[in-house]
Amino acid sequence: MTNRFDINETVGFDELDMRVYTSRLQGVDQDLVLHGGGNTSLKLDGVLYVKGSGWDLASIEREGFSPARIDALLDLLKHDELTDIDMVKYQREALTNPSAPNPSVEAILHALIPYKYVDHTHADAVVTISNTIDGEAKIEELYGDRYLIIPYVMPGFILAKVIYEMSRDLDWDSIDGMILHNHGVFTFSDDAKTSYDNMISTVAIAQEYLDENAKLDIPSSVDEMVYNLGELQVLLSNAKEYSVTLHLNQSPLSRYFASQDDETLYRKGLLTPEHIIRTKRSAAIFDVDLKGGLDSYIQGYREYFERYASDEIMLNSAPNWVIIKGVGTLSIGKNTKDTTIIDDITTHTMRAILQGEKLGGYQSISEADSFAMEYWELEQMKLRAK
Ligand SMILES: [Zn+2]
Repeated sequence: MTNRFDINETVGFDELDMRVYTSRLQGVDQDLVLHGGGNTSLKLDGVLYVKGSGWDLASIEREGFSPARIDALLDLLKHDELTDIDMVKYQREALTNPSAPNPSVEAILHALIPYKYVDHTHADAVVTISNTIDGEAKIEELYGDRYLIIPYVMPGFILAKVIYEMSRDLDWDSIDGMILHNHGVFTFSDDAKTSYDNMISTVAIAQEYLDENAKLDIPSSVDEMVYNLGELQVLLSNAKEYSVTLHLNQSPLSRYFASQDDETLYRKGLLTPEHIIRTKRSAAIFDVDLKGGLDSYIQGYREYFERYASDEIMLNSAPNWVIIKGVGTLSIGKNTKDTTIIDDITTHTMRAILQGEKLGGYQSISEADSFAMEYWELEQMKLRAK
């Protein structure tokens, strides 16, 4: 893990400038967060400046931090339950600047951590280890002494509430951070640099473990393979009901992943929960019979929906990414911005799955938890806001 902090770049910075600076350092590091993932905050004079919805840590600016009154956010913890829609409404009411963006759905959690600077990422290395069959034991072994370890629960109010209960008697000074199973990492400090340094050193522990126990050996030279996307363009546009943009990735990693005999790898699920709105839970598998591969994915998706749905409306059931056997991986979107995001996420996911297999078997959040995330009203709102 590279520590990108450069003291010379921070001359004359106030506290919010520092918040912007170390947020960006984490945002540009794709092994920490991808495309809008993660969130950071600063506490100043009773106000929490927390990443606003719609901002990306890599390019966030001062106005990207929504100012919300800390006492009003903490008051919300008195509720036993809170719907996501109500939480968003109350968080808006807590804003000191009514024209600021919606505070992150993790605002209450940031508010309850008693330090000035709080950083949250979905670091690949940590989540990869957590996403394995005995991930809990491995995380305990690596982090048990100096970290609060949180079982998987839905992000948002439920997560804030769980951590609130777990930390009631906690001496926060006795820990360096929190590991959220199947999700990510939190670090904190009254000093921006220390919180950032802790994020990097926390992830470095996991990275070292992976380097020792799950090093990947991806064949680098594979024969060039020309693949005609014409038929897929038509098939997938019909299934998606818009003219799709396709991106075929034939990197050594994609080729290697697409050439695995064990097709259960392609259905092992997510890296971090929020990726599901981009990729769905699993990839489609296409071999020679493209139409057959597509039909079988759509059928499987409908069955998954029916297993868990109560009153939700089903999303389009066509895949967002496809394994073309022996050829590579295909991202499907409305435009190249979409396909770039999907391609980046799936690239990191493939690496995690292959490494997780080396650690005894990759295992992401359950299908039921995936459904809860995919059909979460706030995630639906994010998509509608695009
Ligand atoms: Zn998160």
